[in-house]
Amino acid sequence: MDEEEVKSYIRAGEIAARVRDFAEKIAKPGMKILDLAELVEKKIVELGGKPAFPCNISINQEAAHRTPIIGDELIVPENSVVKIDLGVHVDGYIADTAVTVSFNPRYEPLLDAVREALDKALKIVSPGVKFSEVGKIVEDTLRSHGYKPIKNLSGHSLDRFIIHAGESIPNYYERISFSRFKPNRAYAIEPFGTDGKGFVVESDTITIHALWKTGKVKGLTLDERKLFNTIRQRFKTLPFTERWLQDVFERDVERLRKTMEKLLSKKIIFGYPILVEAGNGMVAQFEHTILVLDKEVIVTTKLK
Ligand code: MN
Ligand code: MN
Repeated sequence: MDEEEVKSYIRAGEIAARVRDFAEKIAKPGMKILDLAELVEKKIVELGGKPAFPCNISINQEAAHRTPIIGDELIVPENSVVKIDLGVHVDGYIADTAVTVSFNPRYEPLLDAVREALDKALKIVSPGVKFSEVGKIVEDTLRSHGYKPIKNLSGHSLDRFIIHAGESIPNYYERISFSRFKPNRAYAIEPFGTDGKGFVVESDTITIHALWKTGKVKGLTLDERKLFNTIRQRFKTLPFTERWLQDVFERDVERLRKTMEKLLSKKIIFGYPILVEAGNGMVAQFEHTILVLDKEVIVTTKLK
C-alpha cells in the first residue's frame, strides 16, 4: 500500500468520523429519517468526500440496510434505538462507521456493551491476529452483560470501491476460522448486540441496491440503458439509492422505479433487504474502520 492510498484512507476516515459525530448530535425523535440521511450525505460532500453507500438509518429491531426512499415520511420514533451507518470514500478508498443512538434509557446498557465489545476488539488487532480472536472478545463481552452477538452479521475487509472485499470478521467465537489480519489492508469491525435471538432475517423491504458488475450488458430498452449507464458511472458497484437517481428521468419517480424494477428482474442490479432481528430483539451496532499496516494499526474513523 503506497503513501497516497494510506492518505486517502485516513482522509476518508476523518470525514466519516466528523459526519458520524454530527449525525449523532442532530438525530432526534420526530425528525424525518429522510432529512437526517440527506444532511449526513450533504455533509460528506461538504467535507470533500463522497458517500460510499446510502446513509443507513435502521430503527429498533432493524439491524441494517434501511435508507429513506424518495418522499419518505418515516420519522425517528419516541423511545427508539437508532443505528446510523455511513460510508465515505476518497478516490475509492472507503471508511465505514456506525453509531447507535438511544432515546430510551432502558437500552443504554445494550449500547454500552456493544461499545465495549468494539473497543476491546480494536485493542487486540495487529498483523497476524486471527479473526476468531475478535469474534471471541466480541461474544464474551456481550454475553458478560447478558446480550448476544448477531451471528450472521460481521465485519469485513475493504478494498478500493469494494465494501465487502471477501473476508468476514465474525462477531462470535468461530473455532474453525483460521484467517488472520494481514498488513496493508483495511477492515471494518462492527459488532451487533441484541437481547433477541442473535441472528437477523431479511424483510420484504428493499431500499438499497447495487450493480452486480460493471461489464457490458445486452438487450436493454433505452430507459434501462440510460439508468444502467448512470449507475455504472456514478457508483460502479457501490450501493446506491433511488434518491441519488432522481435526475435521470427528470424527477419522474414512477418511471425511475419501474426502470429499476426491470434492471432488478434482468439481474443487472440487486437489492439489500432490510435486516430484522429474528426474535424481534432490540439491536445496537458500533463500527470503526481500521488500517492494518506493518508496524501499526490506525483506526481511521476515530478523531484524534
Ligand atoms: Mn457500516
Ligand atoms: Mn461495514
